[in-house]
Amino acid sequence: MIIPKEPKLTDEQLSIVTSIVEEYDCKIQDIVGHHRTVYAVLGEERKTIMINRILGLDFIDRFDAVDSPFKLMDSSSELAQHKIVLGDHIVGKGPFVIAGHCTIDPKNPNLFIESAHAVKEAGAKAIRGGVWKPRTMPYSYQGDDASVKILMEARSQTDLPVDTEVMDEHQLRIAVEAGVDILQVGARNALNYSLLKSIGQMTQNKKIAVLLKRSMGMGPVNEFIAAAEYIAAAGNPDIMLCPRGTNPTMDSYRNYPDESITPLLKEKTWAPVIVDPSHSVGRAKYVPSAALAAIAYGADGVIIESHVDPQRGIGDDPKQSIKPDILKQLITDIEAIWTIKNRTVLI
Ligand code: PEP
Ligand code: MN
Repeated sequence: MIIPKEPKLTDEQLSIVTSIVEEYDCKIQDIVGHHRTVYAVLGEERKTIMINRILGLDFIDRFDAVDSPFKLMDSSSELAQHKIVLGDHIVGKGPFVIAGHCTIDPKNPNLFIESAHAVKEAGAKAIRGGVWKPRTMPYSYQGDDASVKILMEARSQTDLPVDTEVMDEHQLRIAVEAGVDILQVGARNALNYSLLKSIGQMTQNKKIAVLLKRSMGMGPVNEFIAAAEYIAAAGNPDIMLCPRGTNPTMDSYRNYPDESITPLLKEKTWAPVIVDPSHSVGRAKYVPSAALAAIAYGADGVIIESHVDPQRGIGDDPKQSIKPDILKQLITDIEAIWTIKNRTVLI
């Protein structure tokens, strides 16, 4: 990774650097960070002659060749200082709670708007609402482009950032154009590398964050971080990692709860971790304990399905959404655990 002396390279400086790396079959990807732009060298960057030629340029400060498969997402990367800002919240400073419906019902827009206000009142910092849904059965409700308007209406009424899942480029384009703040990559698409690349490219420099779920089949933690690296390498470092339970399931939980990988993720990568207890345990009554466990493990926040009237919801809402009054109590408890966690002396 190339770090310039000034906050960013001029066009002329960038073309000098680009033509050098291209001689060595590499490419440059600019990554706009909070304080400065850094330039990732995509390809085999550890070539001494190339590095020396770049270091010889008087506008270059450093060349960090990170000794890791994740040049950008590794904890030792220059991007480790990068901060994701959503609404008035800097992710990592205080618990970041995203809450709202699994699925927006376009036939009942007021239900979603009501839930959006209720989760804000409960203390959520962002609102989730599924516009398009990955359903196991092709006959189940699949989502509707029209729900984007309802999601954006909730955004303008509450002034909170909004999150929705995109599964293909059509949905991605609509969500980006509408101004969705957080694009969710679901568990089923966490290994869809072409989608990850398109998301990275289309959200670059747009202040759109990506919430990357852990795939239910993902094994090693490195596989998860590598998926995030795809998005960063395509231009957007605003990535939050989201463990959401894996397979095989544990007894009557929906998945095998995996909030315990949080410390491992936080050791290897600087990316914030936002755990999804709703999909991991899959039943409203188990969600609060799993959410508190996630914070105790050091998560930066949680994403929770919440609905004013779960039985009138669609998708996962009837079985796993918690009501806003429970969410409110949970957020108070999350803040208490957060305080305890952050005064714990780590060995
Ligand atoms: C969801 O968030 O509603 C969802 C479908 O999640 P996942 O991709 O984790 O199954
Ligand atoms: Mn859901």
